[in-house]
Amino acid sequence: MMVDQAKMARLPKVDQVLAEPKVAALPGELPGRLVKQAVRAVLEELRGRLLDGEDLAPDRLELAAVAEAAVARARLMARPSLRTLVNATGVVVHTNLGRSLLARRALGRLREINQRYTNLEYDLAAGRRGSRYSHVRELLQEITGAEDALVVNNNAAAVFLCLRTLAAGREVIVSRGQLVEIGGSFRIPEVMAASGAVLREVGATNKTHLADYEKAIGSSTGLLLKVHTSNFAVVGFHQEVSLGELRTLADRYHLPLMEDLGSGVLVDLAAHGLPKEPTVQEALAAGADLVTFSGDKLLGGPQAGVVLGSAEIIAGLRGNPVNRALRIDKLTLAALEATLELYRDPAEALRAIPTLRAITMDYQALRRRATALVRRLRRLGLARLAAEAVDGESRVGGGALPLAALPTRLVRVAVQGMSPTALEAALRGGDPPVICRLEDGRLLLDVRTLLPEDPAIIAAALKKLAS
Ligand SMILES: *Cc1c(COP(=O)(O)O)cnc(C)c1O
Repeated sequence: MMVDQAKMARLPKVDQVLAEPKVAALPGELPGRLVKQAVRAVLEELRGRLLDGEDLAPDRLELAAVAEAAVARARLMARPSLRTLVNATGVVVHTNLGRSLLARRALGRLREINQRYTNLEYDLAAGRRGSRYSHVRELLQEITGAEDALVVNNNAAAVFLCLRTLAAGREVIVSRGQLVEIGGSFRIPEVMAASGAVLREVGATNKTHLADYEKAIGSSTGLLLKVHTSNFAVVGFHQEVSLGELRTLADRYHLPLMEDLGSGVLVDLAAHGLPKEPTVQEALAAGADLVTFSGDKLLGGPQAGVVLGSAEIIAGLRGNPVNRALRIDKLTLAALEATLELYRDPAEALRAIPTLRAITMDYQALRRRATALVRRLRRLGLARLAAEAVDGESRVGGGALPLAALPTRLVRVAVQGMSPTALEAALRGGDPPVICRLEDGRLLLDVRTLLPEDPAIIAAALKKLAS
């Protein structure tokens, strides 16, 4: 391998690059230390490639080119790690892409509450210390009819707190068919173990009978737990014991009964053409002493965990020192309260909460969106770019309604000379990134999860790639 010493010698020095007008103008906009780091990184990379024997074009080693690369690198380094992107996957509650988007009302409240001092833990009537838990308590009681309510950091924390308080050192009876794993390492048996409760599995994977629960009840039983099998479904020869039946058992043996609902649906989605999903209100009415659910799944709010139910049990949760470690912060509380306010009018909730709006979106509206996107892409007039609208299905995601296939319109995109895999990666690597679907070797954009500004972003990204 030959190292081109002449080229190596032509590489500019760090100070020379820093003195280039383009680079010298940067520190006003970016920290000087970062700019210097970027220049060093670019030069090191070029040196490394020359040492590897790469035949770099001479103009890439020139001062102006190195300066330009350093500016680009500095901007890249200064970019936040947590960024916005375009979700063209059609998965509405996409856990990897941030789950639910907040309603405008919640965004406004977030700003308002975090710019000024607040009564977060101050009782204005009494003029002394108050409780942060009071802010959404009445609203949750009003919307769901629950006797009491407590909110914590997320649903995993809610489940953990309940198990820890009600059943540490005792047995919790759960059906084998409900020992779920939710994406991102939440597993019922593991949360159970961490809480100090002892898992007592009953029944078989596909069938559990009331008698299975009853046989397992003994002096060390602390809790009967039902877990919503959020992200999968058992079809065929299958039986679960209903909450109502478990209630009779809980009464007979004086045991608390809890349901981890996962998603927290507060409006009946079956009325909007979606599969029946038990609502929070129904779980409470069927006799659960406690129900827990997420704030950022189908509820459509911020990350949070909600516990509803018996005032006596919830007082115990509130008083558990562990609760302090799981507490909800004020940003979340502000957004959660504003989101819940929308549920006072279910029709308004469906209109104003982005998650609910996206999963109940009408097919004709999706058709219009897809047609408009195809038209926009064709208007670019790029010979290498092809786009057409096709039918498909979207998913709710977030471990909710696993069987619901929502009819949607997809825009199939192809760029001549680029494989769908390469196109997917290029769009993902763009700024902002566009996350698409690859299915049967086709690159697809589901218009269901696009926001109003997204078609322009997609068109600009494709223009860059297909020009
Ligand atoms: C999603 C889910 C959880 C975890 O909720 P997070 O809010 O993500 O912590 C727990 N249980 C069930 C059944 C779920 O679906």
